[in-house]
Amino acid sequence: MERILEIENLSVHFPINIGTVRAVDDVSWELKEGEVMGLVGESGCGKSTLGFSILRLLRPPGRIVRGRILYKGRDIVLMEEREILDLRGKRIAMIFQDPLTSLNPLFRIDQHFVETLFAHEKGLTRKEAYHRAEEMLESLGISPERLTEYPHQLSGGMRQRIMIGLALILRPDLLIADEPTTALDVIVEAQFLDLLADLQKRYHLTIILITHNLGNVAQLADRITVMYGGSIAEVAEAGGIFESPLHPYTQGLLASIPNIKLDQPTLKTMPGSPPDLVDPPQGCVFHPRCPNAMEICRARRPATFHRDGHIVSCWLYR
Ligand code: SF4
Repeated sequence: MERILEIENLSVHFPINIGTVRAVDDVSWELKEGEVMGLVGESGCGKSTLGFSILRLLRPPGRIVRGRILYKGRDIVLMEEREILDLRGKRIAMIFQDPLTSLNPLFRIDQHFVETLFAHEKGLTRKEAYHRAEEMLESLGISPERLTEYPHQLSGGMRQRIMIGLALILRPDLLIADEPTTALDVIVEAQFLDLLADLQKRYHLTIILITHNLGNVAQLADRITVMYGGSIAEVAEAGGIFESPLHPYTQGLLASIPNIKLDQPTLKTMPGSPPDLVDPPQGCVFHPRCPNAMEICRARRPATFHRDGHIVSCWLYR
């Protein structure tokens, strides 16, 4: 598979009054065309910041201070604003956590679709745009009659499906879904993930699924990236992450999930708390919580090693 996205040594900082938050710290990462990549980690680990950086949607004072983001070989970091506007939606689309706040309550659903199409496809007639919106709603399992309704008239699950329809109406190659099921109950969440899997196959989409829910990525992802403290801890095929995690943080994360097949009177917890990204620990950012920490871990940031199909940043695998 061709690489659609290559990130090289990316660092994103947020200068604040008490110092600089190193939200993403020297991350190198790549995505293959047509794959679903799960991006997981605790809140504040940098996963959403990484997603927003890809579309240059960082809110000030956040900024990319170093690195390259290559989309099909073109560096997004260096693109002119005009090129970025063309890329957003048309080539790379994003869906957000809360569909209600992402839809304009004063616009009917058809107006959202027509405006999106008009913004990117010159020469399209209103009738053609409306027809495209009808087709999209049908593919989402929603009756086209709902096009004339306002967002508040739809359920949460339907609104999230509308969001994905708006993201896909311009036929992008890459979809970034940032915690797309957070606002949904478990049944609607499962239906939404099924729909996402179906659309991924139908449109041969590459998807980055950002979530703190390992169950979601287990259902959908081909590969999984685990982030911790603004860095990538481990990348591997989904099966490899769940069956034989290598990084001590990934192991701790999986051990803290209830498993109905095991007799677990108590759940394992990870000691300590996530690092302060204004003043992160020296060496390996995970060392204050790591049961395997060694002398080198406190002194030097771990290099990246390849082991059994995993890419892992940990001195245990040197
Ligand atoms: Fe633990 Fe050291 Fe590996 Fe960091 S580098 S995860 S501290 S063993």
